[in-house]
Amino acid sequence: MGGGSVEAFVALAIALSVVLGWMFQPRRPRVVAEPPSRWRERLTLLVPQSAFVAPAQRGSYEQHCEAFLREKQFVGCNGLEVTDDMRIAVAGLACLLLLRPYNRVFPAVHHVLLYPDRFFVHHELPDHDGLVHDEPLEHLGESWHGDRVILSWRDVEAALHGDETNVVVHEFAHQLDDETPEMEGVPALQDYAHWAEIMEREFKRLRRHRRPPVIDAYGAESPGEFFAVVTEAFFQRGAALRHHHVELYRLLRDYYGLDPAAVELWRHPLNGAHA
Ligand SMILES: [Zn+2]
Repeated sequence: MGGGSVEAFVALAIALSVVLGWMFQPRRPRVVAEPPSRWRERLTLLVPQSAFVAPAQRGSYEQHCEAFLREKQFVGCNGLEVTDDMRIAVAGLACLLLLRPYNRVFPAVHHVLLYPDRFFVHHELPDHDGLVHDEPLEHLGESWHGDRVILSWRDVEAALHGDETNVVVHEFAHQLDDETPEMEGVPALQDYAHWAEIMEREFKRLRRHRRPPVIDAYGAESPGEFFAVVTEAFFQRGAALRHHHVELYRLLRDYYGLDPAAVELWRHPLNGAHA
């Protein structure tokens, strides 16, 4: 074997090992991060909605938050530097959705992308009216089928301060919905018939209503968006939702295992009147 062919053989072996190494590498290496120190105290300070969690649920809630902080990789976008407080706030809000028994911690989500503010997205597919938009659309958040949730940090902060919108629970409600992909707007449940009866009635009611007082009109887009926006109303305007939509409130209370209307966090004009 001459020198040239040895070199060729070595080059081939190196190329093969690179290709094989690439083929057998896990495509998505599991990132395991340490939760920040003293994260439990920060959670209570940063996430007022954590007051909805009853003492008996606290252990389970904190376990879910800890798993979220370990397993989900946060990525700062457009120059945003992701801090420990940002991770804790997102984990604390998202895990409020997981207090039912036997819940897993959003197994499909591997990445949380944080933008400093709202971001613009090009949509090449027609919207529900059949229109294709040339201009990029402004988004607060996105939930992808599997892998990732994208959030505007400014809107996460607004939710922590009592804003009517809560982009974290909205996008993670879509993730719960995606766990049963055969039915839009329906997460995994014990009693589908009861859920369908109330959700369908309330969805139709929202579609008829020109200016709904509590539920964001965006929920009329589809059953999936309806589930996401009523989840926002449940966590951000619980007392008002209970007052105007008592059956819907009870359905979500039983599903999420929380009773936000019983805890007054913010003096919302609608909440204040009927707290
Ligand atoms: Zn949505």
